Amino acid sequence: MKKLCALLVAAFLVVGCSTQPSEINSPVESSPAGATSNGNFEPLLSASFDAAWSTDVSRKEMIETALFKLFRDIDSIRNDNCEFRPIVFAGEPLLEEHHYLLEGIADGMVASFCDYLTEDIPVIGGSYDFAKEVIAEQGYDSDEFGGNCGFDLQQDYASACAAYKVAWTGISLGSVRDGVPFVEERRLTIAAHELFHIVHDQINPNGAPGLSSCRSYSCQGPVWFFEGAGEFFGRAMTQYLGLQNYATFVPTDRSGYFIDGEYLSDLDFLTKSRNLAGGVENYYSGQIAMEFLIANIGLFPVMRVWENMNSGMIFPDAFQDSIGLELEEFYKKFKTLHLRLYEEGGHCDSTLGCPAWNKSEQQTDWYSDTSMNSESSQGNLEGHSHSEGLNPSSHGISEECLSVNEQWWANCTELELAIPKSPENSNHGQPTDFESIPLADSCKELGEVRDSEGWAKSFEAREIAGADQAFVSTQYYAALRHLDQNLDGVICSAQAPE
Ligand SMILES: [Zn+2]
Repeated sequence: MKKLCALLVAAFLVVGCSTQPSEINSPVESSPAGATSNGNFEPLLSASFDAAWSTDVSRKEMIETALFKLFRDIDSIRNDNCEFRPIVFAGEPLLEEHHYLLEGIADGMVASFCDYLTEDIPVIGGSYDFAKEVIAEQGYDSDEFGGNCGFDLQQDYASACAAYKVAWTGISLGSVRDGVPFVEERRLTIAAHELFHIVHDQINPNGAPGLSSCRSYSCQGPVWFFEGAGEFFGRAMTQYLGLQNYATFVPTDRSGYFIDGEYLSDLDFLTKSRNLAGGVENYYSGQIAMEFLIANIGLFPVMRVWENMNSGMIFPDAFQDSIGLELEEFYKKFKTLHLRLYEEGGHCDSTLGCPAWNKSEQQTDWYSDTSMNSESSQGNLEGHSHSEGLNPSSHGISEECLSVNEQWWANCTELELAIPKSPENSNHGQPTDFESIPLADSCKELGEVRDSEGWAKSFEAREIAGADQAFVSTQYYAALRHLDQNLDGVICSAQAPE
């Protein structure tokens, strides 16, 4: 994993491979404890963009130029006396100490995009049960389950949804350690990501999940477009608001391998088929496509795509009219650019590597297909619902997080569980990389493949729980933490039952 991380850092300045605890690593002076810079990107105009749509640019130049143009454009329309307001509801497990962050993001997003808003934005931070309570009390529209995700969400600690006009972020923004409130990396950007969905849904309510009559991508745009926007604006706006620097990530597939560059470069194909990385590929490629768009033409033409869709244009027409490029032409340029960037990143040459991808020749006319009856398309139209790349089989550890975090046991799990950064293992004789740990749904299932008297996250937790027969393994505990119902740091031990 070390070698891989070095490659990633060199190519994209992705941190997360850092061996430093994130909380002592706070380069933005005004940023809250724990919020770290993942990128060191500055808003800087690069001469590489003097000629429009050049594909001969580096990722850093592209990101920095996009940040420059975005910040410049936002400065010109920002309205701190906006007539519309965020209505913030904060509940458990969002900490009191972090309410100001949620409020700051909500206020900042509303002031920045005031020109595009038509009504107040309800913003809920806390558990999904809390969100349902607020929705019921306030009489907001909801899905059939009383929430805003469009499905019966059970595990809410890493989820967030924007639909039915409400932005909900289920993730808490951090925890308190030794009396100091810490913010977990990236979590701030997810709140801004969801808020941006509400902004474009207010511009183009016809594409808004839950409330619209439109059932096709012709009036909503492809997933790469709105989720790429969520990813780009989520990260760029938290930097604009002085909370956390812009960050990048590289997705992996369900087996943990990097993904073929041809596949990730093919926005047209990703629009129709997007399952290789559980959907994350559209977020990843979409974020880069959004950088490419904004670095070239700034904020306003991108926002105009939603305005055009609202006036009845289908996406390819809405795109060409405001961006000034045919959608197909843009796809070609993106492919050239991304293929080179991805190759320079060296992902497929790394020890992890990329399995071969064979493009299926089966094509449908996506934008004219108004039936949208397939299971997978339906899901996306129900809501901009996120488990942020959650792989359902991995119990809440996202592919995205695994791909950039050597210390996944600490960095990809809930802060509330206080899983040690330095892993502790007794002499249990089992490999501890994530892929080698059986992801069992029950202790019985685990017992069938691994013989043990339980697993503790640390020697201390084992002692406190009085489970001296249990093995200690920080990684086993982290991967199987969903089995810890009483949160004592020990799972599957008869000596410390749940
Ligand atoms: Zn989203």
